[in-house]
Amino acid sequence: MTDKCIYCGMEIGGKGVVRKIDGDKIKFCSQHCAVMFEGLGKKGRMKAAIMTERAEIISRLEEERGTRIITLIHRREPWEEKDENYISIEDTEHVLMRIRQTPQDKDVDLILHTPGGLVLASEMIAMAVKNHPAKVTVIVPFYAMSGGTLIALAADEIIMEKDSVLGPVDPQLGSMPAGALISLLEKKHLENISDDNIMLSEEAKKGMERVQKLVKWLLEDKMEKEKAEKLAEFLTGGYTTHDTPIVFEVVKMFGLNVKQGIPKEVYDLFRTFEFGACPRPQYARY
Ligand SMILES: [Zn+2]
Repeated sequence: MTDKCIYCGMEIGGKGVVRKIDGDKIKFCSQHCAVMFEGLGKKGRMKAAIMTERAEIISRLEEERGTRIITLIHRREPWEEKDENYISIEDTEHVLMRIRQTPQDKDVDLILHTPGGLVLASEMIAMAVKNHPAKVTVIVPFYAMSGGTLIALAADEIIMEKDSVLGPVDPQLGSMPAGALISLLEKKHLENISDDNIMLSEEAKKGMERVQKLVKWLLEDKMEKEKAEKLAEFLTGGYTTHDTPIVFEVVKMFGLNVKQGIPKEVYDLFRTFEFGACPRPQYARY
């Protein structure tokens, strides 16, 4: 039993209201919350209980760090059948809304755990992170690949562990890396390549140029221009496979503001998620 109401998350003053639900005695702050919670159905009750626990962990972390916490975590929700598996436009709306609601002088911590996702969705979040006037720290406890890395590059600071990983941000068209599509034109005579693949490789070229420009812009206030250009070229040019892990030491070598030390509460937060069958980084779409 907790002294916080499982339904609304408020402190329970006095004795509260105790109800037996699903075989457990649960204490609520009020009759209202007890009735509302009971009416949710089993999955709904599971969701409400977990969301309350998460809110509590997040508020502890916010207090400790003096920041606004925003999460972008792709793991299975315990009350859902299907997995949340990549950065979608819905994620973008959620993160942008939370950033816009944050006062301009309030620092933000973005907890990031993702194999990547839609290019546009990731770009929009990266731009919002860069444009927030106060400090934005991206916290990567395990991995933030491709689109996730793009978002990390926008931050003022990255917190990861020695073996947390980021990855290259070269665009993928369908299941094909842009770099491979572009080099197809150099490897074969034009008449031996299908029209579809010629068009796709032109798209790949445009996509790569666009992401490269964005990465340069994300980096330009963090390092010398020439260094930013080289790093942008390396990360977007498809020089290594899309699932290449970029570990702490390498991120540091790049000249990015990175430090070790994931707060304990971040791991407490991960305890409230399930391991789903969501595609692991090797299948990252972007
Ligand atoms: Zn309540």
